[in-house]
Amino acid sequence: MKFGGTSVGRPERMHQVADLITRDDEKKIVVLSALSGTTNALVAISQAMAEGNKNQARQLIEELEQHYQQFILSLVKTETAITEAKTVIADHFEFLHIILRISFSEALNKDILAQGELLSTKLFCVYLKEAGIQHGYLPALEFMTIDSYDEPQIGAIRIKLNQWLSKSPDTNLFITQGYISRNARGEVDNLKRGGSDYSASLIAAAINASVCEIWTDIDGMHNNDPRICEQTRPVHILSFDEAAELAYFGAKILHPASIWPAQFNNIPVKLLNTMQPDARGTVIQQDAESKGVKAVAAKDGIYAIRIKSSRMLLAYGFLRKVFEVFEKYRTSIDMITTSEVAVSVTIDSAVHLDAISRELEPFGTVIIEDNQTIVSVVGNEIAETENVLLRLFDAISDVPVRMVSYGGSKHNISLLVPSAYKVATLRALNKGLFDL
Ligand code: ADP
Ligand code: ASP
Ligand code: MG
Repeated sequence: MKFGGTSVGRPERMHQVADLITRDDEKKIVVLSALSGTTNALVAISQAMAEGNKNQARQLIEELEQHYQQFILSLVKTETAITEAKTVIADHFEFLHIILRISFSEALNKDILAQGELLSTKLFCVYLKEAGIQHGYLPALEFMTIDSYDEPQIGAIRIKLNQWLSKSPDTNLFITQGYISRNARGEVDNLKRGGSDYSASLIAAAINASVCEIWTDIDGMHNNDPRICEQTRPVHILSFDEAAELAYFGAKILHPASIWPAQFNNIPVKLLNTMQPDARGTVIQQDAESKGVKAVAAKDGIYAIRIKSSRMLLAYGFLRKVFEVFEKYRTSIDMITTSEVAVSVTIDSAVHLDAISRELEPFGTVIIEDNQTIVSVVGNEIAETENVLLRLFDAISDVPVRMVSYGGSKHNISLLVPSAYKVATLRALNKGLFDL
């Protein structure tokens, strides 16, 4: 069971989480995020440090500490528990104050970012102890490892996690951190923003769990982004493939990589609402159970790269050479379209953009457009759904679509639009495809 930032963001919510995890006696691992707002605050502290602005960093640290001091006053009641909670806060904020005195580095940045999940889990354990709920504590930094390409080492995770579990054979309830990990250099690292979902899925895979429950602040995966569209509705059943596409193409409710570990081990993933525990939510499983359009998602920060060459495109081996450039820079391509004289691809990171562009130049004219958004329409057998393209393009007739990808998979149609048109596109599709 994984609980996100909002689900643990207030003392009363933590109490509710304790109720939810003790509704039955089944053996379980509970994965917690940092309290909502904490990771953002830690990012700001790190940024201030990176810019050499120690006063600002100090002020942000003090504000965050205040928040925690207030938080525990409503979390726990007894003298003993208050003292324990204060010790937890003191330990972690002492660390944050120490960093003000050492020089900033990327490794330190990751250490700073890890404080949120360490604080939330330890404070939650203090509460569980006060409430007389027997539990074990699993330190994620001791089993959640990533390799030198930032990929989780599922085999090693399985071995180490099971070693930890076997130390407490009689314990049925374990608490651990989402998001944080240890990298190939042995340093503290993380699974990227929103990574607690990924932790939960990796843990579920490592222990062959019967289910992976992601508890959040909404009743499941909705048909469209609820932050953008006024009316959206939950999708009750999704296949792993559909959910993976939605997560990868921007549905914030799930970390982009969080589906594969569960899918690989055929463990159903449930998306549930902590604030409405009896709502049906979404079940993600092998079988999609129905056909047609299920949901739309959007991913910002996309770069479109067009390579135009009248001479070389038709020559065999041209695409291989183009792709090799991206492979060399370990940059994955999301969308691709080709014409007689040009090929367009999209990437979601500018880290190696200049180098990639330079190496593509011998192949033709290279044009790069930034501020693009991929809008993905997802659903099982979508390509075979009657009139789907007609309805789709009819709905967005005013949007200057830059690229279209259709037929690459059976459950996805993707469009590339300028980011300025994202909101209009999502709203138009909500009406045109879902009648909402
Ligand atoms: P948590 O802190 O629990 O991990 P997140 O904020 O990461 O929660 O994810 C939940 C949020 O995702 C929702 O509050 C909602 O605003 C947003 N969201 C974006 N797209 C979708 C979607 N298609 N369905 C449901 N929620 C979505
Ligand atoms: N706390 C981390 C974040 O805000 C991880 C997570 O919540 O999933 O990104
Ligand atoms: Mg999240």
